[in-house]
Amino acid sequence: MGSAADYLEDPLFGHTRYRKIKDLNEGTFGIVLLALDVRTNEQVAIKFLERGAGVNKSVLREILNHRLCVVHPNIVQFREVFLTPVHLAIVMEYAAGGDMFEYVIKHKLPHHGQGLVEPSARAFFQQLIIALEFCHELGIANRDIKLENTLLDATQPQPNVKICDFGYSKNEFVDSRPKTVSGTPDYIAPEVLMADQYDGKKADIWSCGVMLYVMVTGVLPFAKRGDDRGNNLIRLQQMFPRIVAAEFQQPLHVSPECQHLLTRMLTPDPALRITIGEIMQHSWFLCNLPPHMQHLNYTLVQTLVPVGLQSVEEIETIVHQATRPSAWPNWPPTTASGTR
Ligand code: ADP
Ligand code: MG
Repeated sequence: MGSAADYLEDPLFGHTRYRKIKDLNEGTFGIVLLALDVRTNEQVAIKFLERGAGVNKSVLREILNHRLCVVHPNIVQFREVFLTPVHLAIVMEYAAGGDMFEYVIKHKLPHHGQGLVEPSARAFFQQLIIALEFCHELGIANRDIKLENTLLDATQPQPNVKICDFGYSKNEFVDSRPKTVSGTPDYIAPEVLMADQYDGKKADIWSCGVMLYVMVTGVLPFAKRGDDRGNNLIRLQQMFPRIVAAEFQQPLHVSPECQHLLTRMLTPDPALRITIGEIMQHSWFLCNLPPHMQHLNYTLVQTLVPVGLQSVEEIETIVHQATRPSAWPNWPPTTASGTR
C-alpha cells in the first residue's frame, strides 16, 4: 500500500488492472479519470468517490440505477465498482467525444440565438429521448438531465449520445416519491419548486425540453443576462418567476413542429405536459428517425446483460465497505471532501 500522497496524485496507484491515462474532470463529488484496462487494452472512465460518510444511500442508488441501464447504447455503460484504500471507484465506458455543452458551443451557428442545425439537434434529441424512455420503463427518473451530463462518443460527423451521471436518480420501485429540490437551476421543472412531491419522470421531460431549447438556440430558455452565475440559490430565485410561468422566447428560426414540441415539453403543469410516449409520436421527433431506433428499447429489454456483470449483492457489499473511512484518518491531505 502506498502513502496518502501517492493516492492523491494517482487514485489508481498500485492497481493491477487499471492504469491512469489522464484526468477527465473534477466532478461535484469526486474526480473522473481516463484509464487503461490492461486486461482488455480498452480505455475506460473511472469516477472516484471518497470513502466515508459521503458514500451514502444515494451513492448506492446511483450505481444500481446505472447498472440497470447497462445494455443501452445511449447510456454510458456501467462496468464495475471496486475499492482503493481511499476511494470507491466506479468504472464505466469512456465517452470520448466530450459533452453536449461543449459540442453546442463549438458547432452552433454564428448568429446569436441560433444553435445547432435542426437535423443535427433532432438526431441528438431522438437518442436522448429513447435512452430516457428506457430509464423510465425501468422505473428510473434521472433528475439531472442537462447538456453537461449528456456525453458523446467519437462517431463522426454526428456523434452518439451517452447519458452519464445517475447521481440524483430515483427508482420508483425502490424509493419514495421525490420531494427535495434537486438538479441544476436552469433545468428544474416548476413542480419541483412548487409541489410537496412530484413525479421525477415528468420533471425529466421538462429538463429535456430545456436541453432541446439550448440545442436549437445556443442559449438557456429561462436565464437572463445578469443572473447570478456563482450561487445556485440566488440564480434559482432570479429565474423562479420565469420558470413557473414558462416564460421563454420562442425561437422563430426553427420549424413550427419544433416550436410546438418545445412548448409542449415546457408546459408548467406536469399533468398537461407532453408524455414521453407522445414525444416519440410527435412529427418532429419521427422525422428521419433511423428505422432501428423505433423499436430499440423493445429489443433491448430482451438483451442479455454482459457476462460477469457484478451482482447487486456484490455491489452492495463493496459500497457498504466504502462507507467506512479511508485507511488514513486525515484523508484528504489538502482539501475537504464534498458530501451528498
Ligand atoms: P458529477 O456527479 O460530479 O456531476 P458525473 O458523472 O457527471 O459526476 O461526471 C463528471 C464529469 O466527468 C462529466 O461531466 C464528464 O465531463 C466526465 N465524465 C464522467 N463520466 C464519463 C465517461 N464515462 N466518459 C467520459 N467522461 C466522463
Ligand atoms: Mg454531472
